[in-house]
Amino acid sequence: MGHKNVCFNCRKSYNQGTDWDNIRESKCPECGALMKQVTHRFRPPKQSDVKKWNVAKFLMEQGFLYHHVWEKVFKNEKGEIYALANYAEYPQSMREAKEFVEKYKEQAIIE
Ligand SMILES: [Zn+2]
Repeated sequence: MGHKNVCFNCRKSYNQGTDWDNIRESKCPECGALMKQVTHRFRPPKQSDVKKWNVAKFLMEQGFLYHHVWEKVFKNEKGEIYALANYAEYPQSMREAKEFVEKYKEQAIIE
């Protein structure tokens, strides 16, 4: 599975290698800022679409790195997950993003 490096300053993403376990932090070739690593599922908005970039940045800062998020998580009495269903769609607007983060916060990837 590949991943992408994202620069919020330049609003660009760069495809990187496929070895998700061995990713390294890297700097943006244009501005030198440290980039954020997300999964290849991230679809970068148009460079001029600042609103959508802000939504993506917000989601990433909250630990949603465009990995699969499950709409339904079934747990038994002990709290162990026994089933997962339906991938949730990543939101496009800030309002939806805030709801998304609240709803799925247990599935965030905290570094
Ligand atoms: Zn940059």
